[in-house]
Amino acid sequence: MINKRPGRVEIIAVGSELLTPHFQDTNSLYLSARLNDLGWTVAFKTIVGDNAEDLRLRLREALRRTELVIVMGGLGPTGDDITREAVAGALGRDLVLQRDVLEGIEDRFRRRQLPMPKPNRKQAFVIRGAAVLPNKNGTAPGQVLMVGRKKIVLLPGPPHELKPMCEESVWPALGKERSGHFSRAVLKVTGLTESMVDALISDLYPKRADLGLTILASPGQIEVHLSAFSAGSGVLAEKKLRRLKSKFMGRLRNHVFSETGDSLEEVVGLLLKKQKKTLAVAESCSGGLISHRLTNVPGSSEYFLEGAVAYSNAAKIELLAVSPDLIKTHGAVSFPVARAMASGIRRRARADLGLAVTGIAGPTGGSPEKPIGLVFTALAWPGGTEVQKNLFLGKREQVKLQSAQKGLDMVRRHLLQNARSKKRRNR
Ligand code: ATP
Ligand code: MG
Repeated sequence: MINKRPGRVEIIAVGSELLTPHFQDTNSLYLSARLNDLGWTVAFKTIVGDNAEDLRLRLREALRRTELVIVMGGLGPTGDDITREAVAGALGRDLVLQRDVLEGIEDRFRRRQLPMPKPNRKQAFVIRGAAVLPNKNGTAPGQVLMVGRKKIVLLPGPPHELKPMCEESVWPALGKERSGHFSRAVLKVTGLTESMVDALISDLYPKRADLGLTILASPGQIEVHLSAFSAGSGVLAEKKLRRLKSKFMGRLRNHVFSETGDSLEEVVGLLLKKQKKTLAVAESCSGGLISHRLTNVPGSSEYFLEGAVAYSNAAKIELLAVSPDLIKTHGAVSFPVARAMASGIRRRARADLGLAVTGIAGPTGGSPEKPIGLVFTALAWPGGTEVQKNLFLGKREQVKLQSAQKGLDMVRRHLLQNARSKKRRNR
């Protein structure tokens, strides 16, 4: 295990509730993101119910196929929490009571002025040979043990316990073991479809084992994940990554809104702040999503003045001063109404920029001339307006997501253009 390139991992989520439609295994999304960052390949993700025999079987199988097995959930005090016992059973090891862990658990209850319930004693048992991972946010400690050259990590199920434990104990330990160096970058793209991105970059896909590329697509956003590995030096890995990245940037250019992990709303916020501009938003079919995203960014009060969800025609007329005749002639989902909404909210809020979205999110309300997914996005600024006609595919929520993304991207592109023209003028 030591001094080699990270290998393959199996993540096992334990919990019968995760096999119902009501709960999702979200922990493994977090785990796989961080494991990938460290260069590990997640080979399998498994969900096992609260059944000791099933878990024993899966664990034995996992140890045959991967170098690292992460088992999470089922470390609690109740009868259906079987992970500790099942793992010990699969390995033929016994469980030993660890005094300091027991004292830690008792102390947690004492601080809340409660006696420790008897079942919690179970959580102080550790598989023979395992090291304990402290749990600052709950009673069940994690455990890590070696089985020959393979490693097993046991983690508590609640995300607010699992994540801090990983950040404090698991990732630093895994990071120390590997000798190679990984550099990673994510280029976030918007305004292009997945096939458009593919057409731009397909001839650049790396064919060498030390360079990696993955493309992840979601509504309105494509992420290009790049990685470079060097056995010898971090500087070399970084250099390889830079070279790879600049090739992709040369093709994707200003369609890339972030190279640092920032969300589109954060990028828009930074641009607004830098240019000392304010923004107001009028939303019909996006139902407040743009305002929600903008205000998720701390400090957004500096540039975001007002957001109106003007859903009905009356609201468009009263809040945004859109002329009733315009709506009557062209319909609420139309080029001129989108423009009037953007100008209307800009004037109303006395903002530098006014953004508006109006469209048909479906599943009803479409017609041959105005199909579901038809969305007009409009931007108004002191010197003019711009309206774009979009045809988005997907269900109602996907249309909303893409509308919000497109609206925010219009602001971003406008501000970039602004900065460029200013630079040119100053030259
Ligand atoms: P506890 O001491 O709380 O019982 P535990 O280690 O036994 O911890 P579980 O009982 O399996 O963990 O899960 C506790 C809660 O943690 C679940 O109700 C669920 O909300 C959350 N949880 C468990 N596993 C996952 C998972 N894979 N992804 C997201 N949430 C999870
Ligand atoms: Mg439990």
